[in-house]
Amino acid sequence: MRMELPVDDGNTVVTPMTEPAREASMRTETSARLFARAKQSIPGGVNSPVRAFRAVGGDPRFIVRGEGARIVDADGNTYIDYVLSWGPLVLGHAHPAVVKAIIAAARDGTSFGAPCTAEIELAERICAAVPSIEKVRVVNSGTEAVMSAIRLARAFTGRNHIIKFAGCYHGHADPLLVQAGSGVATLSLPDSPGVPAATVAHTLVAQYNDPRSVEALFERYGDDIAAVLVEPVAGNMGLVLPADGFLAGLRAITRDYGSLLVFDEVMTGFRVSASGAQGRFGIDPDITTLGKVIGGGLPVGAFGGRREIMDMIAPDGPVYQAGTLSGNPLAMRAGIATLDGLAVAGVQEQLEAAARETAGVLVEEAARAGVSIQTASIGSMFGFFFSEEAVHDWPAAERTDRKRHAAFFHAMLRRGIYLAPSAFEAGFVSVAHGEAELSAFRLAAAEAFAHIA
Ligand code: PMP
Repeated sequence: MRMELPVDDGNTVVTPMTEPAREASMRTETSARLFARAKQSIPGGVNSPVRAFRAVGGDPRFIVRGEGARIVDADGNTYIDYVLSWGPLVLGHAHPAVVKAIIAAARDGTSFGAPCTAEIELAERICAAVPSIEKVRVVNSGTEAVMSAIRLARAFTGRNHIIKFAGCYHGHADPLLVQAGSGVATLSLPDSPGVPAATVAHTLVAQYNDPRSVEALFERYGDDIAAVLVEPVAGNMGLVLPADGFLAGLRAITRDYGSLLVFDEVMTGFRVSASGAQGRFGIDPDITTLGKVIGGGLPVGAFGGRREIMDMIAPDGPVYQAGTLSGNPLAMRAGIATLDGLAVAGVQEQLEAAARETAGVLVEEAARAGVSIQTASIGSMFGFFFSEEAVHDWPAAERTDRKRHAAFFHAMLRRGIYLAPSAFEAGFVSVAHGEAELSAFRLAAAEAFAHIA
């Protein structure tokens, strides 16, 4: 049965109530039942770990539908969604143009394993939007994109090592499952069992926003560093912006040593600006990885860059990379419809304002309640930490108050605001996040901060 979403007058989600009464008034039995059932046949009951709410406690909600800025769970609770499938849904849930494109594509057949026009159209749009990308290969996830980009960088340079940054996430390919604590810059240990030490032996870990940590690695391993891989705006340790000159410094040092600069824009692509973080900060990386937004909510990733580098990919070159469902017509059409929606005049500015105002509400309401937080926003992304100190890197992110974050998360959830269930994630807005959503968010935040103060 299709559940109707409540008519929004801006006040439907939040009504004053004591905390225990609010707790009792939100029914979650159906989600709990579904979660118990899911755990019988799916590891942890989820197909991606962070969905399981382990970082904040409690059981996840099972979502039955979404529309615009809102999602509805299996018990009929409505939430304003600031996760948006972890970024892709920049036009909001079930945007009519995206749904129409997917249905039309499905009618023509869901997959051919042969070239189709939609692949060219999406590639052309990406190349036009992101000037450093002259050619692009589409894959099925961000993980695949980064994994392939690294293979390509190693092949192009004939070198082995890659530098990544603590707290940056690039998917779950073996060589990147390394975080290394602060200071453990050269001794990379795998983060997960099943990843042989030999697989990460060539992964060097530097500190985000710390050029010195990068220089030290280049001084020692410079001749064998194939690439520096970075989230140009870090969105996987909470939202952490690059310090002035940090990205330009990476561009300069990689050029000096003949290494490639790889921007992982899986999250920031088409969110930080129409041409990604690289357009906003004026840096041309050699290779860029994309995902999320370019698939409009269907499984997609991509990697692209300079022609001479991309021409090394099979079948033009010797670097093997392939995929049964890569360039899937449904995903291509959903991505094209999403990029078309984003290209409408004024949309980027509207998104940027929505993210800025959402972060602004957090600043104001936290201050009113006497709670210390740090916030950031850029493009259509925002973030917040419970911390008295500014957060510029992973060690500082780790020092933030995660217990308080979990309490705030649940207080917001009870008030119909769905935030990421972890302190180390970014928040996202869509074109459907307008005035009504902002005022509901403010009411909820005011109560939630007061509750945890
Ligand atoms: N890179 C970045 C920057 C990401 O944020 C993510 C996913 N959150 C990935 C890569 C991996 O993408 P996927 O989950 O589609 O494999």
